[in-house]
Amino acid sequence: MSNSELLVQKFGGTSLADLKGFNASADIIESYAAARRVIVVLSAVKGVTDLLLEAIDTAVEGGNGAHYMEQAIDSERSITDELSKRGISTPLASEFLEEQHATLTRREEGIRLLGQCPDEARARILASGEGFSSRLMVDLLQHRGLSAQWSDTDVLPLANDSWLDSLVDIEAAVPLLAQRLEEGAHITVLPGFYGRNADGGIQLLGRNGTDYSAAAIAAATGASLCQIWKDVDGFFSADPRIVSNAQCLDEVSYDEAMELTYFGAKVISAKALAPLAGKQIPCEVRNTYDPSKPGTLVHSGAERTHVVRGISHLHDVTSITLQGGGLRGRVGIARRVMDALASESISILLIVQSSSEYSITLCVRRADEIKARKALEEEFHFERLHGLIEEISVQSDRAVVSLVGDGMKRYRGIAARFLTAISSAGVNVEVLAQGSTECAIAVVVKGEAAQSAMRACHTAFFSHSTHIDVILLGCGNVGGELLAQFQRQAESLREHHADLRVRAIADSNRLLVADDVLDLDCWREDLEAKGRPWTIDDVIAIRENLGLLNPTIIDCTTDEDLALQYVRFLSNGFNVVAANKKANTASLDYYREMREAAAKNFRKFLYETNVGAGLPVIDTMQGLMRSGDQLKTFEGILSGSLSMIFGLMEDGMPLSAAVAKAMEMGFTEPDPRDDLSGMDVARKLLIVAREVGMQLELDDIDVEPAVPLDAVSHVDRSELINALQSLDEDFATRIRAADAEDKVLRYVGRIEDGKCRVAIEAVPARKPLGAIRDGENALVLHTHYYQPIPLVLRGYGAGGAVTAAGVFGDILRTVWRPLDQQAG
Ligand code: ADP
Ligand code: ASP
Ligand code: MG
Repeated sequence: MSNSELLVQKFGGTSLADLKGFNASADIIESYAAARRVIVVLSAVKGVTDLLLEAIDTAVEGGNGAHYMEQAIDSERSITDELSKRGISTPLASEFLEEQHATLTRREEGIRLLGQCPDEARARILASGEGFSSRLMVDLLQHRGLSAQWSDTDVLPLANDSWLDSLVDIEAAVPLLAQRLEEGAHITVLPGFYGRNADGGIQLLGRNGTDYSAAAIAAATGASLCQIWKDVDGFFSADPRIVSNAQCLDEVSYDEAMELTYFGAKVISAKALAPLAGKQIPCEVRNTYDPSKPGTLVHSGAERTHVVRGISHLHDVTSITLQGGGLRGRVGIARRVMDALASESISILLIVQSSSEYSITLCVRRADEIKARKALEEEFHFERLHGLIEEISVQSDRAVVSLVGDGMKRYRGIAARFLTAISSAGVNVEVLAQGSTECAIAVVVKGEAAQSAMRACHTAFFSHSTHIDVILLGCGNVGGELLAQFQRQAESLREHHADLRVRAIADSNRLLVADDVLDLDCWREDLEAKGRPWTIDDVIAIRENLGLLNPTIIDCTTDEDLALQYVRFLSNGFNVVAANKKANTASLDYYREMREAAAKNFRKFLYETNVGAGLPVIDTMQGLMRSGDQLKTFEGILSGSLSMIFGLMEDGMPLSAAVAKAMEMGFTEPDPRDDLSGMDVARKLLIVAREVGMQLELDDIDVEPAVPLDAVSHVDRSELINALQSLDEDFATRIRAADAEDKVLRYVGRIEDGKCRVAIEAVPARKPLGAIRDGENALVLHTHYYQPIPLVLRGYGAGGAVTAAGVFGDILRTVWRPLDQQAG
């Protein structure tokens, strides 16, 4: 039967929170009723069903259930009182309310005395909320002079005998509804949520059952459209309360809507979709408080060109795993699991079997956990007794996150992107399931991680850019410059589909965490004013607290203790980008541990600036080694300050004056002895050596300091230049001797014959290192492929700007695909 005239409208609790909601709903009914016949189905006033439920449960426990009953009645009465103040009478609703008040109070007493509440009584109590709201709507519509009539739900005969979660016998409802329409007024108003059995008894249609009432009525009357009115603009790509940039969808197919609602999208109850899909009745989800918006159309003609339609999540899920060698190869295990749970009326949300048949995991609602466990323990008693099954493991507080879209089956790589997104939020996937319709992929994760997972997936599929959430530790020269570069590049990065967000910064004393993003215009002042003392635990906690995406810690300090925390950072789901060299020059064991932690956790550990600052040293070397090249010898000028000092001496400046000048130009550490000791060069050489596979410790590097340390170590910093004068003559002599052979002195790090040495060398003026001065760095690699002419990398190897640029490059490299391929 098709009834092209008829419209079914459902208003949920969110549309009926108060008088304003009732009036908004009545406006909508009135405007549609001008052109067509309307059947209106109503939920209870917002919160009333929950209060009645609370009242019953409290009374069963012997508590003061009446208190909650009163609250429910009060929230209803406040609406009729307000109307009466405005001179609008509500005869139907008020009479019902007073009668209910007496009945509910009596029932509550009975439940408390008995200590139990039979399902039949429970159904009658809970249905009273809909009884009230539907009558009130009739009063309101009649007051407006409209032809509106209340109808009982005896026109919805039931298909089974469940008191609390029944089905409507739609075929049997067809003639009953037809007759009611024939006799009835232009607008028929029915309470949702329940039907009546042959004895006239009330049976509920399950929580949020009004959607199902409306769908069943639409199906039985062959209505041309069913409208579900809510407090949101329509069906969103994700729960708008969790994902702030969720998008309202124009349309979804029935299958998509079913998958989305089954796993949590509270838009239409999942149960309501079957009658609508069965009769192909289009359904609009609209906003009561903004009826000008078109809302979302659920129908069979939804476009299938999109990849993913939405993401939903279901909380309070328990996952249960049966595992053991005894399951392997045995027929009927899955059936027994299902039967055991079905016999307890427990619905299985999701079930997967490992391909080795070694384990079966299933998910149920938390409310069913205890019953489910018991049922399975009994069913598999024999297997457990004989060790064929290990203990049944039960994980509470899980959530199912699912990705839904009809278009998925036509595209490749969706599951990979889904899982990568979840992993970018540092969330562990415990179970993965894809239905054979390929309309949805679902994962089970820890409950507390669901929000982060949702947000990460939403970003991956609905925003075309990659997000990187950054925590910067150390905002001195390099860190400060890096923040300035972020700020300058923000626009251009967005054009290239990267959204880089600084979520926290710290110096050695203070940590400043932003709920959203830090304001890079005034980070210094904010850090000073709002920063707090911090520990490593504080930094680690930021990821979960803020639900970071691609969380990346940037170490721009020179702190050794911090460097020793990288393994923890990586194991806790962070990428690490280090300008700090201390980690890669710590013990070999730690060096390996960091790489293992990065690999195991699928995180990136990047440190391109450890050698040669912005020069592409590490990446180039890794590329060569991966392609099978081998290092024969390496020589390099790896210190910008020593490059400057030795260049000045070559021009005839004495050592002491050259050091003073380099200091003045900002080319040295605050105490130049840190450069002159050669240890910084030794660290860089060790990093190069380890990169080509040499298993060395820092102690294995033979270091000859640039100046004899005993000559300068005892003096105060202010006396340093004077002390260095005692060495001027010695250096001048060495330089002259070298010059006589057409050589120049350079401070060189060298790898040769399996040994690493850092020392002053006289190098031929015309060879690559001979030309390196004025702060420049050079790395000369003689390799199997690069011979006899070596590969030479040269350029500035120090300074805030180039180092920060190198760190910046590493940060962008933490994301898994080239940024320019993000679009679409
Ligand atoms: P009603 O009781 O009026 O039927 P509900 O409270 O049951 O309404 O559901 C409406 C709420 O569902 C919205 O306020 C919204 O926060 C939430 N919601 C969850 N997921 C989605 C989604 N994907 N799209 C729209 N709303 C959603
Ligand atoms: N009032 C009922 C509930 O809260 C039914 C509904 O709102 O659809 O479950
Ligand atoms: Mg509701």
